[in-house]
Amino acid sequence: HAQTTAFIGLGRMGAEMAYNLFSKKLADKPDSSFVVCDAVPESAVAFRSRFLSQFSGANIEVVQTPEEAALAASTIVTMLPSSPEVKAVYTESGGIMSALRSFTASEREQLLYIDSTTLDADVARQVASGVTQLGAQIIDAPVSGGVTGAKAGTLSFLVGGTNGAFQKAQPILTLMGKRVIHCGSSGAGLGAKICNNLVLGVQQIVVAEAMLLGQKLGLDPAVLAGVINCSTGACWASSVNNPVPSSLPDQSPPSERDFEGGFATCLMLKDIRLATDIANRHNSPLPLGEAARNLYAEVIDKHPDLTKKDFSSVYRYLDRLGEL
Ligand code: NAD
Repeated sequence: HAQTTAFIGLGRMGAEMAYNLFSKKLADKPDSSFVVCDAVPESAVAFRSRFLSQFSGANIEVVQTPEEAALAASTIVTMLPSSPEVKAVYTESGGIMSALRSFTASEREQLLYIDSTTLDADVARQVASGVTQLGAQIIDAPVSGGVTGAKAGTLSFLVGGTNGAFQKAQPILTLMGKRVIHCGSSGAGLGAKICNNLVLGVQQIVVAEAMLLGQKLGLDPAVLAGVINCSTGACWASSVNNPVPSSLPDQSPPSERDFEGGFATCLMLKDIRLATDIANRHNSPLPLGEAARNLYAEVIDKHPDLTKKDFSSVYRYLDRLGEL
């Protein structure tokens, strides 16, 4: 049990993270054992086969419920879609907390749960409070870096939790990522993630607006991008993720590839909704955040073909709007 690590949620991000985590753990401690679990059992089975094809003889098991995973493992990483799934996996029957009740107090002190899902920070705090009341440790550790960073093991982890839990989690997180930042107490990692993506979501829209307007005023997009990128409007949305093809001579943003790859519009909408919902509850005004949320929702509603494209495709939506 002490040498067993579990991963719950083997989706696009989770499968890559688990692969790095398990393979590096195995290299360090050959007697390590692993457990995987997903609501779609085929995803966990496919992950196990992939892992065994590279590390034949590794001790890796598929289990059906988070409760079984928690009974088997002392460390669990969860990487789920959002708040409802995190609540279900931790607090509902068949969940992690049901298993916790069958451990002694001193056994519980050894248990560490790492939730890397991007979810509502208030929900994460409630879940974490339930887990810590039972005597185990938990952190919120949402990531930035996308599927590419997950595959390369170069993610950034934004962590919320106690110092003790952070110290315990750090060596595990470094097996999956490059940067690990302790942002504060429980929920602070998610707070940081949500605020950062709020800035990003708004900036990408205004860069699209400016690039479109500039061209209507007769500017060459490469000239305009060059000016913005060395002036006070400089930001990642313009200098790395510019939505106009050929505007960044030495780079290849998703706009060069018909907006394929990158960060999907539907995921940006999800993150901006997390920001507007939590801001409402905490009486923090978000006039631009709300406008951005409405615009991304409109993009998906009116042009479903852009749902899975990079969110900088909001430029294409504005361009189409201007042609009406
Ligand atoms: P995904 O939908 O590909 O994976 C989620 C996995 O969780 C799926 O395999 C699903 O079957 C499983 N799952 C759902 N409910 C479950 C349950 N009750 N029990 C067990 N498994 C369950 O999503 P993803 O792209 O891997 O994203 C995961 C999280 O990471 C999200 O919160 C997302 O916002 C965040 N994130 C994603 C990216 C990205 O580029 N994809 C980047 C940064 C952060």
